[in-house]
Amino acid sequence: MNDVEELYQELIVDHYKNPRGRGVIDDPDAKCTLFNPLCGDEVTLYVCVEDGTIKDLQFSGRGCAISQASASMMSEVCEGVTVEQARHRLATFTTMMKSELPEEELEPLGDAASLQGVRRFAARIRCATLGWEALAKCLSELSESSGEGE
Ligand code: ZN
Repeated sequence: MNDVEELYQELIVDHYKNPRGRGVIDDPDAKCTLFNPLCGDEVTLYVCVEDGTIKDLQFSGRGCAISQASASMMSEVCEGVTVEQARHRLATFTTMMKSELPEEELEPLGDAASLQGVRRFAARIRCATLGWEALAKCLSELSESSGEGE
């Protein structure tokens, strides 16, 4: 393992043990639960939006370290940003899990960039994308309900 991989491992363990944004929102604007039956992961995401900005974003669930750390990393970089920015981060993350991206493009992903190493383990990719897929569903639910569409 090289230094970078070691750092990535540490970030994943840190987010797993000390998750950011773990909790439940009673009356969210959007909510989505997704399962990854291959690994037994479960993530429920709660999103509150005000004036086009993600005011509150929390998740609950259980599963492997990668799935829970990824949801935590996603919460950290998508809470407090505009829906547009969150969509952009989501697109970057999705691309990163398929192919290599230049370092500077990964910057907005914060700690979530550390999950790019998971790309080499096909069976674990869904673990890393589960929380982000839930975000995608919540954002499309929001744009439908507000009639904005795209
Ligand atoms: Zn998993």
